[in-house]
Amino acid sequence: MFDSELDKDTGAMRRRRFLVVAASAFGGAMLWSLRKPHTLEASANAPAETPKDVTVVQFSDDGKKLKTVHVPKIVKTEDEWKKQLSPNAFDITRHADTEFAYSGQYWNLHDKGLYRCICCDNALFSSETKFDSGTGWPSFWEPIAKENVTEITDKSLGMSRTAVSCTLCDAHLGHVFDDGPKPTGLRYCMNSASLKFIKA
Ligand SMILES: [Zn+2]
Repeated sequence: MFDSELDKDTGAMRRRRFLVVAASAFGGAMLWSLRKPHTLEASANAPAETPKDVTVVQFSDDGKKLKTVHVPKIVKTEDEWKKQLSPNAFDITRHADTEFAYSGQYWNLHDKGLYRCICCDNALFSSETKFDSGTGWPSFWEPIAKENVTEITDKSLGMSRTAVSCTLCDAHLGHVFDDGPKPTGLRYCMNSASLKFIKA
C-alpha cells in the first residue's frame, strides 16, 4: 500500500519533471525564434528572411584574383560578433566608430601584402595602392575590387561623407574622400582595426 503510493508519487513527479523540461525547451525555441528575426533586422536593416546574395571577388593570400562569386551576405548577431572581435574592432566595424589617428597598427605599415576584412576575411585592399596620407589612418587610392566594398552617404556628425563598408558582412571600414592621389584621386581612409594584414 505504502509502496504503491510511493510509486504513484514518483510517477507523478517524473511526469511533472518531463512537463517542465518540455516547457522550457519550447520556451527556449520560442525565445530563439523571436530573437533571431529581431537581431537580423537590427543589424542588416532588412526583412528577417534569408540574407540577400552579394557579389564579391575572391583573392588568394598572395593577392591573386581568383573568381567572382555570388554568395549570401554574412549575417551574425551582436553577441556572435562580440565573441569574435576585440572590443575596439567590434565598436568600429559593427557600430561605425572611428579609431584615434596614429593609434592603429597599419597607418605606418609599408610591407607588401593584402588587407582583408577583420570580420569575414573578404579581400579589401592591396599594399600596391596604399599611400602615406599623413592622416594617421591607413589610406588607399583604390579597393582591390570595387565589388568588395560598398559606399553609402553618411550624414552623421553634421557632415556629409561617404562611408565605406565590407560588401560581404557590412563591417564599417572607414570613409572615402576625393582628395587622394592619382590615378583615382580618391582617398580610402580606413580604420586599422577593421583590417587584417596578410604579408606577401
Ligand atoms: Zn567583412
